[in-house]
Amino acid sequence: MPTIKSIETLIVQLPTRREHKWAGLTEVIGRYVIVKMTDSDGRVGWGEAPALKDWGGEFGRYFGESALIARAVIDTYLAPAIVGVELGNIAELHARMDAIIRGYPYSKAAVEFAAYDLAGRWLNVPVSTLLGGRARDRVSVTHSIGLISIDEARVEVAKLVQEGVRTIKVKIGVDPDRDVAMVDAVREVAGNAVEICVDANEGYKTPGEAVQVVRRMEKNRLKYVEQPVMGIERIAEVGRRIDAPVMADESAWNAHDSIQIVRSGGIQIVSIYTTKAGGLYKAMEVGAVCRAAGIICNVNGSIETGIGNLANVQLAAASPSVTLSCVIPISTPAEFQHGQVAGIYYKDDLLVEPMKVVDGAIVVPSGPGMGIEVDQKKIEKYCVRD
Ligand SMILES: [Mg+2]
Repeated sequence: MPTIKSIETLIVQLPTRREHKWAGLTEVIGRYVIVKMTDSDGRVGWGEAPALKDWGGEFGRYFGESALIARAVIDTYLAPAIVGVELGNIAELHARMDAIIRGYPYSKAAVEFAAYDLAGRWLNVPVSTLLGGRARDRVSVTHSIGLISIDEARVEVAKLVQEGVRTIKVKIGVDPDRDVAMVDAVREVAGNAVEICVDANEGYKTPGEAVQVVRRMEKNRLKYVEQPVMGIERIAEVGRRIDAPVMADESAWNAHDSIQIVRSGGIQIVSIYTTKAGGLYKAMEVGAVCRAAGIICNVNGSIETGIGNLANVQLAAASPSVTLSCVIPISTPAEFQHGQVAGIYYKDDLLVEPMKVVDGAIVVPSGPGMGIEVDQKKIEKYCVRD
């Protein structure tokens, strides 16, 4: 039985197509930790920690892991603890990681993705098979409009509609009048065939303020309102007072949070990440709790590079709960970019080929492991020293 032999970490910085911001974010996206894991037969698997220092939630219950922190946690604690684990024994991998250090789910997720990638390559199956099989063959993509000006958004939305995007997420939570005007403009340009959702990233100060703002937007037919305020109970309060369903994101990290969300009684949607729970194995648990409670889910993330985004796609394919369109990039290397905008947040990517898109959905890659090969030359090109 092959075993995990060694783990290396490095930090990359992908160039962004344009600045991508949301409420509370103070650093650039795309500066992430890459994990290269080698097994005893010489196979290589890849993982990524899209760690952001600002990303937390729920009154300090979770907190940011920067790239430097994630790298230190992986190199110092996780890597030595998991050498020798048999390929495919993800339960043992998590038991060892959780025993050596508490918390740091993004660091643990990066290691786990590489372990899943290796197991899939060894068994010659895609990771979705290891997660229980494919619940779907395509993953619909929602394009996220960051905190840009209304004029810039008009131009971008027109392009998105042309490119076949079916769902647009608008970042709000900044200023009520600006937010309402932005959603009006997006609906005007997008027309009625497109679904619109909004994400405040905890930006409104009180449930009352959030309710007032959302009521002014609801004429634009919102599919859902994501994380209007901080705190499970406070989101639930908003959810009980507006017509559109509310989604928990910053407040929904793991299966235990999901139980609390179910008990709150007002939240109908949970945003699952591969990372918040600490990896795919635990993200599947989040989906299972939600499914049992009738809560629907999407997969959402931190604008990963192709390496982390392949894990998003494998999770979205495997989790029966993920019935909503997912807010994930369409990972596309520079050679395959021809001015398209939908799902494109970076000017280049770390994969040898682009994710294939049909009717606004990513076709789940069926290759072994995470499904698409990593381009080592691109990793060298975008590697940064710190
Ligand atoms: Mg969100």
